[in-house]
Amino acid sequence: MQESNVDLLIIGAGPSGLMCANALAGRGFNIRVVDKRAVGVQAGQADGIQPRTHEILQSYGLMERLLREGVEIHRNAFYNPGPSGGIQRVERTAAISQPTARYPFTMCRHQGGTENFFIDAMRPKGLEVERSTVPTVLELSTSTDSPELLDPQANSVKVVLQHLDRTENDREVVHAKFVLGTDGAHSWVRKAMGIRMEGGHTDFVWGVVDFFPDTNFPDIRARTVIHSTHGSILVVPREGDLVRLYVQLSDMDVVDKQTNRVDKAQASPEKLIETAARILQPYYLRAIGDVQWWTVYIIGQRVAEKFTVQDRILIAGDACHTHSPKAGQGMNASMGDTHNLAWKLAYVLRGWADMSLLRTYEAERRKFAQDLIEFDKEWSTLFSGKPRTDQHQDGVTHEATLGVFKRFGGFSSGIGIRYAPSIIVDSKHQACASKLIVGERMIPHVFIHAADAKPANIHDLLPSDLRFKILVFVADVTTDTGAVPLRKLSERMGVESSFLRRFGHGNHLETFDILCITSAERDKVDYTDVPELFRSHWSKVLVDDVDYSGRCGGGGFAAYGIDPKEGAIVVVRPDGYVGTVAPLDRVEDIDAYFAGFML
Ligand SMILES: Cc1cc2nc3c(=O)[nH]c(=O)nc-3n(C[C@H](O)[C@H](O)[C@H](O)COP(=O)(O)OP(=O)(O)OC[C@H]3O[C@@H](n4cnc5c(N)ncnc54)[C@H](O)[C@@H]3O)c2cc1C
Repeated sequence: MQESNVDLLIIGAGPSGLMCANALAGRGFNIRVVDKRAVGVQAGQADGIQPRTHEILQSYGLMERLLREGVEIHRNAFYNPGPSGGIQRVERTAAISQPTARYPFTMCRHQGGTENFFIDAMRPKGLEVERSTVPTVLELSTSTDSPELLDPQANSVKVVLQHLDRTENDREVVHAKFVLGTDGAHSWVRKAMGIRMEGGHTDFVWGVVDFFPDTNFPDIRARTVIHSTHGSILVVPREGDLVRLYVQLSDMDVVDKQTNRVDKAQASPEKLIETAARILQPYYLRAIGDVQWWTVYIIGQRVAEKFTVQDRILIAGDACHTHSPKAGQGMNASMGDTHNLAWKLAYVLRGWADMSLLRTYEAERRKFAQDLIEFDKEWSTLFSGKPRTDQHQDGVTHEATLGVFKRFGGFSSGIGIRYAPSIIVDSKHQACASKLIVGERMIPHVFIHAADAKPANIHDLLPSDLRFKILVFVADVTTDTGAVPLRKLSERMGVESSFLRRFGHGNHLETFDILCITSAERDKVDYTDVPELFRSHWSKVLVDDVDYSGRCGGGGFAAYGIDPKEGAIVVVRPDGYVGTVAPLDRVEDIDAYFAGFML
């Protein structure tokens, strides 16, 4: 059998595998991505993409395409049974309630379309998905207590791959430093490693159907929750004039009593649309042309007991958590997992960070997955319950549904995700940037370039390029209040013991990008007013002032809770989350932060 070595073998090219592959492609790693499918997803499956995922996609330069190809959802509508037997609207609300979301709406794009964003971005960087390929053997090539496992350069995992499209030489052996299993809910990798899923199934059976509707229902282009005496549906607008309906199937006939699995053969898209039409009365609903995609499922709410084996074989996405699709979380959670993991793998592979950095992946993302299941339990129970009526006083009220929607808004949009304190989340000096919560994603805000007065969202200056971003917020640098502490900081950051020197590997700009944001006035400050360390390029110096149109910029220090006279250092992790903050005169705490995990 042919044998080869790789840094990372990714098994499964769904959203989570592809997010990781694209994040690491073209950065000097030897990566392979394999998938058992002969072709990618053509229609259906996941569609909802949430505000935090938009920000993540933007950090990889992919959001423009999503805006072009997807559909924006700005409105929610809620319907309950009306007095005449049919449904009636109770309320309309904003689809997203997070004031700091850069893109304050959900978007929909079918899963295959989203996967293509990554596939097309990876190709010029020399990475393609190898299709019709499955693993048949996966094992650590050494005992679990071997010191070799602590050496990230050791090819400690052996995988036998089978190429399903070949008749000869169809097997090969791959020796990998790391293996990532992103092979979906029925993960072969997870099973091969004997990792158990914890949790169970609900009794709620739902059908999903994507089609072009002919209807007089006025909220067909809103995300609409409908409780009726005939059951419940969720309406999700899709690309073009397409619509997705999630239809509650009260008919338990679609479940095989022996296996407790859904028997799709007992349902049909026509039946789903008929049920939906009954629920939608007094409005009418018919399908135009052929249904695009449909399926039936039972809600499973499960999390893997662990996400890694010896930090060498890792699993992500649906391979380690499943829940109902109606809150539009799965694809987001899956991509969020590997966005979290990719930079950690890069740092360990480059020998820049200790292997212990990888442990923060499971700590951060398993906690998130458990929270997701808790959210999903409340959410899917509300969706699947009967509405409250005079005869059924225990039923679900619209207020309860809206209450859960609002209470979990930060979570379901992804904006409010907060990673707990760890070696990479240190909130000791939280007070010096009181609104930039350590462990949460950096809040987007528009500042003005000092050099040309062009406004820029800070997020666009924090791309996912595997570098830590060191943001120095300082008072007016045209006066001593700002200039003096900045000069001292520059001197302090230049000494041998500073993190820049210790962990910069000879060229700190490979690991750290430094930006300087001053409260000086737009037309009085020059970008050359700051010490050279803070202006590796003219675009790195910003002012917290309004632009010439007066429409954007200003108020950044206040939005971040930073005293404009005191300033602060903000460390943003490569995945866009605030790692730590410190006063300008506490560089030693930033040194200690990096010394906690970097080599
Ligand atoms: C009806 C439905 C609606 C959904 N709606 C939403 C939604 O609106 N929003 C949302 O965020 N999520 C939604 N989801 C969930 C979403 O589809 C998943 O959470 C998401 O696709 C998980 O991504 P993943 O990359 O982890 O796994 P998957 O997308 O399942 O990808 C796994 C990949 O691994 C490959 N693979 C599997 N086994 C092997 C093997 N042995 N060897 C090699 N390759 C293998 C598969 O071919 C596949 O390409 C929905 C799911 C369903 C079923």
